[in-house]
Amino acid sequence: MSQIDQSQRFLFDNTDVRGEMVALERSFAEVLAKHPYPQPVAQLLGEMLAAAALLCGTLKFEGLLVLQARSSGAVPLLMVECSSEREVRGLARYDGERIGEDAGLRELMPDGVLTLTVDPKNGQRYQGIVPLEGVNLAECLSGYFATSEQLPTRFWLNADSRHARGLLLQQLPADRLKDTEAREASWQHVTTLADTLTAEELLGLDNQTLLHRLYHEEDLRLFEPQPLVFRCSCSRERSANALVSLGHEDAERLLGELGGEITVDCQFCNQRYRFDGSDIAQLFAGGGSAAPSETRH
Ligand SMILES: [Zn+2]
Repeated sequence: MSQIDQSQRFLFDNTDVRGEMVALERSFAEVLAKHPYPQPVAQLLGEMLAAAALLCGTLKFEGLLVLQARSSGAVPLLMVECSSEREVRGLARYDGERIGEDAGLRELMPDGVLTLTVDPKNGQRYQGIVPLEGVNLAECLSGYFATSEQLPTRFWLNADSRHARGLLLQQLPADRLKDTEAREASWQHVTTLADTLTAEELLGLDNQTLLHRLYHEEDLRLFEPQPLVFRCSCSRERSANALVSLGHEDAERLLGELGGEITVDCQFCNQRYRFDGSDIAQLFAGGGSAAPSETRH
């Protein structure tokens, strides 16, 4: 069986442009299975997941990439993550009564702002702010790269209730093509061709067919696909660490208020972590670092 959830790179031979394609199906289904979402919200969440996977592929780093969008509209929060191991998770909050049938980004997230965070295991955290002013997420992200001091990068994103797909093109520093005008013309050429892609094509065609449809006159190299999976990074240990950060006194007070058990729910995967009096005592007994690692339901 072919790998459905994947990211795949390609490189043009005659110009300094790289590309990446991502497809999420099983991982997208797992995200959607955690919470019920109206179709327009599910679509936006799918596009955001595809965007995070594409962005992750442009970075050479070990760590986590987080996209967090906030707005005053029917979708106040949308958050997705993709790790350098290509593990994704995501969630959205929404007000179901305010969501029109064919609502797009502008209707769902008016005055929205997207924060892009790159959190490497080693090294400096990077944050960028993307205003959600375009007609869709792809336009917003493309606009962000056009105005920031980064390599020119364009995005094409689509999702329906089952698939989330994305295409990215990025202009690399001059190497094969040194003449500025020729570089610009070639960048225009490859991006204009990608602009002809319909949502049906991006969602329905496999990578090779899609690339042939767009670039059959170009020489390009397609690399081995890399798998993408859904995985939630929550754990009992992380929840315990959050309780430890409250301090012993506040944790005990909370325990009393909640009737002898503190529950920590993961918003991404609905996993519930329970801590009773003896767990709390144990957490703080060793100076607060030895969290029991088993998961209890
Ligand atoms: Zn979780």
